[in-house]
This record gives sequence, C-alpha cells and structure tokens, in this order.
Amino acid sequence: MEEPIALIGCSSPDQEAEYLRILSAAMPKERLVPFRAMGIAEREAARVAVVANPDPAEVAALPGLAWVQSLWAGVEKLVGAFDRPLPIVRLVDREMARTMAEAVLAWTYYLQRDMPAYARQQRERVWRPHPYRKPGETSVGLLGLGALGAAAAARLTGAGFRTVGWSRTPKDVAGIETFHGAEGLPAMLARCDILVCLIPLTPETRGLVDARHLAALKPGAALINFARGPIVVTGDLIAALDRGHLAHAVLDVFDAEPLAADSPLWSHPGVTVLPHISGPTDMDSAAATVASNLRAYRRTGRPPDGIDPARGY
Ligand code: NDP
Repeated sequence: MEEPIALIGCSSPDQEAEYLRILSAAMPKERLVPFRAMGIAEREAARVAVVANPDPAEVAALPGLAWVQSLWAGVEKLVGAFDRPLPIVRLVDREMARTMAEAVLAWTYYLQRDMPAYARQQRERVWRPHPYRKPGETSVGLLGLGALGAAAAARLTGAGFRTVGWSRTPKDVAGIETFHGAEGLPAMLARCDILVCLIPLTPETRGLVDARHLAALKPGAALINFARGPIVVTGDLIAALDRGHLAHAVLDVFDAEPLAADSPLWSHPGVTVLPHISGPTDMDSAAATVASNLRAYRRTGRPPDGIDPARGY
C-alpha cells in the first residue's frame, strides 16, 4: 500500500477539508488521509503524522510512526505523551512569527496608549486625558527570545520601545538588553512596564508568572500572555490586579480553552480576553514548510530536527 500521511487534530470538518486541500496542493506526491478515515492497514502503514491540536492517543494509535509534524508552534501536549521516543517537529514559520510580532506590537500600543482606561472612562462618560508616554519611555520585557520573541523584539525596537528580553541560555539580540536563567529574571522584571510572555509551557515554566514575579514588575505594569495559560498563575494575577500593582492583563491563552463561561476573567475590569488568536497558523505558509520537511525526509530517510524532549521545547 502507498504510505499515507495521517492528518490529526483539526478543529472541525471544515478546517479538515481546508487543511487537506492546502497540504495536498503543497505536496502533490503525498497522500494525506484524516486519521478518522484510516483503516487498520493505513494506520499501520503511516510513517508521518501532520497534526494541528491532536488527541495524543490518536497519534499513539499509529504504531509505525517515524515522526510527527506539528502545525502549531507549541507542542507541550505531545511532549512525553508516547511510550517510545518519537521525534516531534514543531512549526517554525516566518509568517507565524510576523503575525505574532504584529500582535505583540498592537497590544503593546493598546496598553501604552491607555486604551483600557479610556474604554472604562467611556462606559462611565468620563472625559479625562492621561499624560502621553512615548514608546521610548515604555519598557517592554519579553519572556522568551526564540522564533517568536526575537521577531517581537525586532518590531518593538523598530517602533521605538525600550525592549529587554529573557531566555534560558545567553542570547544576543540586536537592539535589546538580554537576561537569562533564574538569576537573570528578577533584574529583567524590575525594568518592565509591560511584560510579554512568549515562552513554551514546560515543567520549568509552568506557574513561572506567579505572585512573587508579578510583584517584581514596576507598579502599574501590564501583562500580555500570548504563550500558554498555565505559565501564569491565574489567582495570583487576579490578586495583583485587584491590589492595583498590575494595571491590566491581555490574555490570549488560558488554563482551559475555551475559557469557561463562569471564569472571573471574563468580567474582570483589568483583563482583556482574547480567544487564542495572537499567532494563528497561516496554512499556505505552514504547508510550504511541511512540504519542505517531507521532501527532505523522503530524500534522506531522516526525520527533521525535532524538539528536545528533555528540555520540553
Ligand atoms: P522557541 O522554542 O523558538 O523559543 C522559546 C524561547 O523561550 C527561547 O528563547 C527559550 O530560551 C525560552 N525558554 C524556554 N524555556 C525557558 C526557561 N525555562 N527559562 C527561560 N527561557 C526559556 O518558541 P517560539 O518562540 O516559536 O514559541 C514560543 C511559544 O509561543 C510556543 O511554545 C507556544 O506555546 C506559544 N505560541 C502561542 C501562539 C498563540 O496563538 N497564542 C501561537 C504560536 C506559539 P533559549 O533561547 O535559551 O532556548
């Protein structure tokens, strides 16, 4: 049987049809089959799975898999989910980096230009200008200087924001001051008017943005979380907002998604809720990346470089 490529984890039949169309057009020699439509022989024959937001059990149900290509940048659900080593290739895509960097700049402007305060004032019919703060007087700190953090840093510095960044290992990023490791974090947080979260969810980063680290931010600072919900301790965030240490939080990601209807975050005056839209996958661009990875695999027989399971990203 011709080896199929399994497609797993689309959010709806419409999305599945769209992904099949775009991926098949980008790699006409490959035969893509949705997992749900695969018979036993096809499941056994599949060597590659292309996954969006999959149930790991469906991926594990393909016994002959050689590697998994994610259409998402964050793959924390797949790390450690299998009983054998399985290379996981996450999406690193220029168009996603551009979209995410644009979102970071847009929501940084939203905070720098006091839009949450003006929205509140409008509801209360209050006419009160606030002093203008230039981008150069606003410090933005990036948690994470990887594919997305580095792209965001370039957009922020290009717009004149004072930018600092933090990573696990030392990094040299043009135009920004960098910090690394646990010992570098307090120094960076103390600089931040706006903290932007762009690190992966790993055992090390789960709960990282807690009461202690929020307290280390400048009084009146704001938080943007575009990475993963569990990196921020929700209760600690609400407490920091309630006591006025934090002015506002823009949250695109949550402990459970969709955000539960009874979550206090929906109605908190200091919170902007977004439905996980800051860095959507651009399928045309992603399909070209996936096709290129598959071509290299067919040529060499070696899976592309995957994430480091020990690091978790
Ligand atoms: P990368 O792997 O390219 O970069 C990760 C960065 O985080 C690196 O700089 C890394 O440090 C740093 N990091 C990881 N662990 C630690 C740690 N323990 N302490 C300090 N720094 C750490 O990832 P991307 O930039 O591509 O993506 C980041 C995350 O963004 C994804 O994992 C995903 O969860 C999220 N995302 C959200 C989207 C959305 O729509 N909301 C869309 C796309 C992604 P180092 O450089 O030293 O390795």
